[in-house]
Amino acid sequence: MTTLTYKQTDIDVFMNQLKERHPGENEFHQAVHEVAESVFPIIEQNPAYQKANIFERLVEPDRIVIFRVTWEDDQGNVQVNRGYRVQFNNAIGPYKGGLRFHPSVSLGTFKFLGFEQIFKNSLTTLPMGGAKGGSDFDPKGKSDAEVMRFCQSFMLELFRHIGYNIDIPAGDIGVGAREISYLFGMYKKIQNNFTGTITGKALGMGGSLIRTEATGYGCVYFAQEMLNHINDSIQGKTCVVSGSGNVAQYTCEKLIELGGKVVTFSDSGGYIYDQNGITKEKLEFIKDLKNVRRGRIKEYAEKYGVEFFENERPWSQACDLAFPCATQNELNESDAKNLISNGCKVISEGANMPCDPDAIRLFRENKVLFGLGKAANAGGVAVSGLEMSQNRMGYSWTREDLDNRLKTIMKDIHAQCLEYGQESDFVDYVKGANIAGFKKVADALVAYGVH
Ligand code: NDP
Repeated sequence: MTTLTYKQTDIDVFMNQLKERHPGENEFHQAVHEVAESVFPIIEQNPAYQKANIFERLVEPDRIVIFRVTWEDDQGNVQVNRGYRVQFNNAIGPYKGGLRFHPSVSLGTFKFLGFEQIFKNSLTTLPMGGAKGGSDFDPKGKSDAEVMRFCQSFMLELFRHIGYNIDIPAGDIGVGAREISYLFGMYKKIQNNFTGTITGKALGMGGSLIRTEATGYGCVYFAQEMLNHINDSIQGKTCVVSGSGNVAQYTCEKLIELGGKVVTFSDSGGYIYDQNGITKEKLEFIKDLKNVRRGRIKEYAEKYGVEFFENERPWSQACDLAFPCATQNELNESDAKNLISNGCKVISEGANMPCDPDAIRLFRENKVLFGLGKAANAGGVAVSGLEMSQNRMGYSWTREDLDNRLKTIMKDIHAQCLEYGQESDFVDYVKGANIAGFKKVADALVAYGVH
């Protein structure tokens, strides 16, 4: 690649080169562009970063593994899927990041997620590098036995590439408690060794208290920090949440506890609007619907007599706070316009990159407090890091202890955002989080020398 001078104007040149080297991987381009805009001015001021060619090194994954996963369905047909693990960067700790099972994924999805994970893990202050992986396997509509056979076959290859000081996977979309148990069971059997190589495990098999709740709780703690900073709170606020999986459920749980009123939930079929607010009891119904019966959010509308908006997203509903907790690019410019004109003051991203670049631009221009995913949803991987610590010690911390540690980590992430993102009358969380996450990794790479 051509050596750049790291002036702001060079971002276009850099991005064109990146697009040529990684063609068609739009989500990866989008994730890199956002970080480049924040950190190019920092690199421009730092000759050591320039000499080390730091950003070109950072956008090139350390290693990518792609493999065939063969399994048998309940009818005896042999099925083939593709497995991936992108080990992006281990400058500050072993590779760490979730596994996603969803039919839409491609290599570019895992590059985008692995790249984001580098900076997110750095922000947690724990020693973890960035990685991500998964498969185009769709757990939806599969029997438990089919999911088990798929997970076992997936691990029959993945086990070669992971290890508890090497790479520690966890869950993500489509990979919850059931999948983690099948994956970890197979890993432990192949290795004949009980180590904490996967996080998000059930409590009885070395899992950590609060891990299931951590991403959602952390996302609300981050929103609370943003609000505290402007002398406000969650109490009495109307909240719009998207998704209805792990992150959405525990975002809602914590919002209810802190006095917020959650009026929406969604899945890929549409969203429900409950103007009276989702109560603890109604949330228990959603947990059972989604985690046990594996049904559709539409059933909530039928059960509680509220409106269901088929194939729509919830961003046109009036709210004070918005929590996109489903998937990437689920909130665009026109959604952002709706949110702003309806009075939304805070966005805290539970999902990874749910707001597209035009939406983010509008939020920043309108001084909406915008907590980007790599800061706001870092609570999940942070408690995964604490699960690793507990596994190493052979000891478990209490729920209260872990919740306090999670709160402290989210406060600390917020403080790092302020350090680099505080403007005269506004906090630019995008800039703050990207620079803080980047500097630690870049300093480590410079110190290691060239290899
Ligand atoms: P789940 O699989 O538990 O839930 C995902 C939810 O998002 C479901 O309601 C799903 O609906 C919806 N969804 C997924 N894909 C789409 C799509 N293409 N269009 C519309 N809706 C969609 O996943 P999680 O809750 O674990 O993850 C949600 C987000 O949070 C992801 O971006 C993930 O990367 C991020 N995240 C998760 C962490 C974790 O600890 N789990 C940690 C940090 C970030 P449906 O069932 O219809 O597909």
